[in-house]
Amino acid sequence: TNQYDLIIIGGGPIGIACGLEAQKNNLNYLILEKGCLVNSLYHYPANMTFFSTSDKLELENIPFISNNPKPRKAEALEYYRRIATSNELNINLFEKVLSVKTPKKNEHSVTTTQGVYSSKNVVIATGFYDIPNYLNIPGEDLPKVAHYYNDPHYYAKQKVIVVGASNSAVDAALEIYRKGGEVTMIVRSPEIGERVKYWVRPDIVNRIEEGSIKTYFNTSLKEIKEKEVILNTMEGEITLQNDFVLLLTGYRPNFAFLKSIGIELSDDELLKPKYDPETMETNIPGIYLAGVICGGMETHKWFIENSRVHAGIIIRDILSR
Ligand code: FAD
Repeated sequence: TNQYDLIIIGGGPIGIACGLEAQKNNLNYLILEKGCLVNSLYHYPANMTFFSTSDKLELENIPFISNNPKPRKAEALEYYRRIATSNELNINLFEKVLSVKTPKKNEHSVTTTQGVYSSKNVVIATGFYDIPNYLNIPGEDLPKVAHYYNDPHYYAKQKVIVVGASNSAVDAALEIYRKGGEVTMIVRSPEIGERVKYWVRPDIVNRIEEGSIKTYFNTSLKEIKEKEVILNTMEGEITLQNDFVLLLTGYRPNFAFLKSIGIELSDDELLKPKYDPETMETNIPGIYLAGVICGGMETHKWFIENSRVHAGIIIRDILSR
């Protein structure tokens, strides 16, 4: 039947944590994931290393064994995949949730690309990695421009602009430089971001100081053309020859989706969804939030390490009803 105690939207680490907790407590649950299993992680850069040690990424105390203290992307995919398969998690992949309606108390109607489900409770664990922070500048839609970075080989011997100064931008700039790309960083602020991983910072600072990675601080990208980019610097406009542009300026949760469900957002620029931290329940009874989505625009606030506990809080609240 299409009748559930709990529907979890999003098959990321935190959606999976909620599923495990529901299963352990004999709730009739279903996870709906629009892409592959742990879709966000799957789209991270190929060589990416987590900033967390593997024990901090564990769910339900299931051991995460990695060769080095901090696991790589491939090891994390292996870990979460094994959790999903060996626990026979009830998850539908490549099924996107389009809307959630609440016709009456304790009854939510979840419409997906494949059907309609009814559930007493809903957890939204949709993360933040689907929607890039667009710059909205001319040329942003050219084929040579990307908002996601995967692998450095593609950029060997090419003139690459990397926009941004946080972890994604810094990791990409260093990797591409080391595989023979000619990297120029465009940084809006006067220095490299303060949240850059502490063991990566000296590497990028030294490459910039020695001139291996040319960097324009206090500068923004004004326009992207077929073979050039135009920068706005403190000294005025500069035009550079260019082959590829990586706009690694962060990502944001799908606020339109939250609003369409009726979830209230804070009216400042952080757009924090409203929820009770004691239960994780939103302003709509029976609809909960879990994982990185809880932070609104503060996408660095919640991560796997500190939000895996949301699963236990939510299931406890559901069981107490
Ligand atoms: P996600 O993993 O983003 O999962 C959300 C899922 O929901 C996705 O699979 C998405 O496809 C799915 N979805 C979205 N909309 C719909 C819909 N309408 N219908 C169905 N499914 C939908 N955190 C750490 O703790 N340690 C780290 O070392 C770390 N390193 C990171 C490195 C990078 C490069 C990035 C970008 C993030 C990193 N994070 C790290 C943050 C971490 O990725 C997030 O904390 C984690 O993914 C959050 O899990 P989540 O389940 O909340 O969201």
